[in-house]
Amino acid sequence: MKVVLPPTAEQQLAFLTKLQRLFAEGDFTATYKFALLIALSDLAVEWGADDGSELPLTTRQIAERLVQQYWRHVLPYGTDRIHTMAGVLSQNLGAQAAVLTAIEEFRSTSGSRTLQQARSEAAYGRLLTKVTTVVSAQPLTYLQNFGGTTDPFLYDRPQRGIVVLKPCVAYCFRRFHPLVQQLARNHWVGHIKANRRNHGILGEAGGLEDFLFGISRQSLALIGAGLHKLDGPKCFYCGQGLQEADVDHFVPFALYPRDLAHNFVLAHPQCNRSKSDSLAGKGHLERWLERLATKSAQLGEIGMEAGVAADNKTALRVAAWGYMNAHAAQGKAWIKASAYELIDSGYLTHLAAG
Ligand SMILES: [Zn+2]
Repeated sequence: MKVVLPPTAEQQLAFLTKLQRLFAEGDFTATYKFALLIALSDLAVEWGADDGSELPLTTRQIAERLVQQYWRHVLPYGTDRIHTMAGVLSQNLGAQAAVLTAIEEFRSTSGSRTLQQARSEAAYGRLLTKVTTVVSAQPLTYLQNFGGTTDPFLYDRPQRGIVVLKPCVAYCFRRFHPLVQQLARNHWVGHIKANRRNHGILGEAGGLEDFLFGISRQSLALIGAGLHKLDGPKCFYCGQGLQEADVDHFVPFALYPRDLAHNFVLAHPQCNRSKSDSLAGKGHLERWLERLATKSAQLGEIGMEAGVAADNKTALRVAAWGYMNAHAAQGKAWIKASAYELIDSGYLTHLAAG
């Protein structure tokens, strides 16, 4: 197999500088480009390698990620404040963005309650085809235009339906994933706030970021109930009984802000707060891997019920990526309140075996 070297520090800096220029100088009529950047960096984490190799993707694969991101955005947003009125937020400066309209149409005739259930419908295939067309014609075509020229530093499109992340791009997306996500999300929120069509819906209230990127309370409640049944009323981390339970992201949401059913565990609110945005220690990781191996199907069903992506292998790849990055940065893992340890190579051995 051809060995492809990871990018040098200088090449990584060049990537970040270009990305900054893209946000500053790009033209953002709709919110699609933010969604596309989030999709590309997520796919790089899930499918990319830690050398400098290219990463081929399909436009349909990318379109599916956009459907996931926009799925909840077609619900009316309401703040309950005076002088505001609930409504679907506009994600385009002109008429509503076509992807939202397509999802809205699909949801109005679909019998499915969640996206996970909808995926088995024949009409979902047609929705995906529609969104693939929009993604190909719009954000994929224009993302790399900024500062008055085209600078294809992220990907090439060698043939219809195929997008290839250039050498070292998947590496940089994996390395700087939290930064890319934060940039894209901030700009996305800013775009919606600046769109005067949304002013009557938004008022001065906050909470928009949660609505756009967070999990719904209803899904969270369903996951909590499912985990309670599956794992019993005890805290995943300390093993003690639970009166009140938080649904915790095992790989922290701050590190990887996409909800995966297999990444959820129940924890005491105080254990959850103490772990905060840290990765969990080796003993926790071992138990999590064991649970993934033995309870994968049940976790999948919980995800299906709650409308959250449920894929054992993706959760594993994301965890492997998270610990690998933390190991490279000499990061520490949380064991219990105020107790941390260095993430040594032993962690990676466990993940490779899982
Ligand atoms: Zn606990």
